[in-house]
Amino acid sequence: MNAAVYALIANSCMAALFVVTYGVVAITYSRQRAAVWFMVSYLLGFLTPICELLFRFTDYRLLFAVLGYAAFLGAITVMSVGIQAFAGHRLCRRPAALLWAGGMTLRMSLLGGTRNSLPYEMLFQLPFALGSILVLLSIRRIAQKGPIRTLLMVVFGIIGAHFLAKPFMAASLGAGHSAQYYATSYYAVVSQVSTGVLLVAAGLFLMLLVIQKALDDTIRDAESDPLTGLANRRGLARAGPALLAEAKRDGHGLYAMVLDLDHFKRVNDMFGHAMGDRVLVAFADLLRTVAARDVLAVRLGGEEFALLVPDAFGPAERSDNRASHLAGDIRALLRRFDRQGLPPLTVSGGIVRHAPGETLDDLIARADQLAYRAKRAGRDHILHEPMPVAVEPSHDWHDESEPGRRVATG
Ligand code: GH3
Ligand code: MG
Ligand code: MG
Repeated sequence: MNAAVYALIANSCMAALFVVTYGVVAITYSRQRAAVWFMVSYLLGFLTPICELLFRFTDYRLLFAVLGYAAFLGAITVMSVGIQAFAGHRLCRRPAALLWAGGMTLRMSLLGGTRNSLPYEMLFQLPFALGSILVLLSIRRIAQKGPIRTLLMVVFGIIGAHFLAKPFMAASLGAGHSAQYYATSYYAVVSQVSTGVLLVAAGLFLMLLVIQKALDDTIRDAESDPLTGLANRRGLARAGPALLAEAKRDGHGLYAMVLDLDHFKRVNDMFGHAMGDRVLVAFADLLRTVAARDVLAVRLGGEEFALLVPDAFGPAERSDNRASHLAGDIRALLRRFDRQGLPPLTVSGGIVRHAPGETLDDLIARADQLAYRAKRAGRDHILHEPMPVAVEPSHDWHDESEPGRRVATG
């Protein structure tokens, strides 16, 4: 056996390893459906060297020549669709299908052509180069930017360039005077080894990307509250210090607002736990509506929420700060809950401004104490330190023994 035959066997083994690897990922990580596409792509990649070997060692030459080409072009085009699935986009299969059909038509028209001539070899490799470009374009659509995505783009760029370089290698080295002698040519060794190395590189970087996404998903799950989708305490512990550092760097103020729904237990008792959950989700949606991108909304637990609000006009102590405006918006929107078929609800809370040297936990604790004062003073208040804000009661649904009243803090 010659070196090219060994290279073909080695390539089929490597492709088979990727089939198994992506198959395991697809089974064990059901969220990542793209792994199925990657498995199919490597399965087609595995069939390519097998067809080339069968072509060499059986009499069904035409069949295996066409099948080998179809499998390899299929591997590349399926890869482009798989990457779209990975990116979470709606699958656009048409360019891949058109490229595969066009490439196969071209391949059939090349049957009986003059091997080793530059035009023949260029037309032979053209669909593979175009397929690599299609994969590259799909990778560009992956939102998760970073070094791994860049590496994968570089690899597919090199793969595309390598298909364009192959005709020159074939024309100069000779790819066997007839297709049957391809596997005995020096070109076949170079071609198979280079393609094998590049496809292993692509498979590994793609796997890194899948692992990175799995880790990102796991971290996001761990840091968010499953009911409302807001950040939980773990999410606050990660994102909060970054907000604090950013505010310090930009010389801005950072306000913490702690909100506790009033008499929420009664919602559960009167309307059932499912309605309680609906209210919590609606309140979280309300917070998302009022909070801009730079505001961190957190479910601290149960019916307690917090907002971390950066304020560009930070240095001066002001009662009309951004957090106070948000508090007003929250209370106004809460009054519209009945339009959504939800029970009337009020909220008590406290707003404090970050003091120099204060930890995030201490900041939240101070806001929480202020919220507690608002509760004790009759609920339905969001107190600001040092000025009171948002003071008029909005519902009389509460316990009449504890009417809402103005509270002066300072
Ligand atoms: P206060 O005005 O003093 O805050 O009274 P409250 O009833 O809101 O507060 P309390 O701490 O007495 O009760 C909180 C309730 O929140 C009790 C608990 O059953 C309910 N709760 C906590 N988490 C959830 C949840 O995920 N879903 C539902 N439906 N209820 C929850
Ligand atoms: Mg509470
Ligand atoms: Mg409460």
